[in-house]
Amino acid sequence: MHYQPKSDLLNHRIILVTGASDGIGREAALTYARYGAQVILLGRNAEKLQRVSDEIGALGKAVPLVCQLDLATVTPESCHAFADRLAQQIPRLDGVLHNAGLLGEIVPLADLAPEIWQQVMRVNVDATFFLTQALLPLLLKSEAGSLVFTSSSVGRTGRSGWGAYAVSKFATEGMMQVLAEEYKNRNLQVNCINPGGTRTKMRASAFPEEDAAKLKTPAEIMPIYLYLMGDDSRRKTGISFDAQPGRKPGPAE
Ligand code: NDP
Repeated sequence: MHYQPKSDLLNHRIILVTGASDGIGREAALTYARYGAQVILLGRNAEKLQRVSDEIGALGKAVPLVCQLDLATVTPESCHAFADRLAQQIPRLDGVLHNAGLLGEIVPLADLAPEIWQQVMRVNVDATFFLTQALLPLLLKSEAGSLVFTSSSVGRTGRSGWGAYAVSKFATEGMMQVLAEEYKNRNLQVNCINPGGTRTKMRASAFPEEDAAKLKTPAEIMPIYLYLMGDDSRRKTGISFDAQPGRKPGPAE
């Protein structure tokens, strides 16, 4: 994507990123801060989140709020309690990037352990839904809110072996479409990003044989992440975007 954002694109925007401790989420948090946003880092590992917060502080940018929440164990009640605590610290949310995700195991569905199925669904679908429900009131306080979900090519066309992960990403696309319809006349846009193969630890565990040097880095796929959080994408809603348009799914060639 060729997109040249203004350096102050996200000034005065307050953006929460889940899975901000590593990979694409870490890069998105750093990028949003660089472009002026006040960021809220959500993840399960306090130490890793603090390191990201320190990096943002070292850029001379607004010090992020760090929120430790394990999405594998959240409930609707704990998500509402989290949103209530957040509402005491911030006036509104202008953006939420649901980025945290779990791969599970790459095995045929016939062999997939039910516990793995449940873990993947819990993090990728249930927690995303609970958190979205809890954060909607804060998002609707924004003049122009943006809710972004993270999809995958296997969330659009099923692929052998991708089991619970693929099914969870179909559910994510569905959640995005339903919400986009429900809020189409309100000040909230709802979209998905499919990052495409990107150099992270999740990617390395899915494709251990792949030459990672052939993959885009998280920093290289940031244009669409910026576009969807800033004013240039206003009124775009209900769309599943590709961070790497034209990239063929599967191992890097
Ligand atoms: P990583 O595994 O590198 O990072 C995942 C992030 O999610 C980490 O911050 C991780 O925390 C966090 N996370 C995982 N489980 C939980 C949990 N239970 N509670 C809170 N946080 C959690 O993955 P990527 O950066 O590669 O993936 C980011 C998103 O992009 C995912 O939704 C993934 O499905 C999607 N995606 C990635 C692609 C790729 O090629 N990389 C391709 C297509 C989609 P911790 O640091 O503690 O592990």
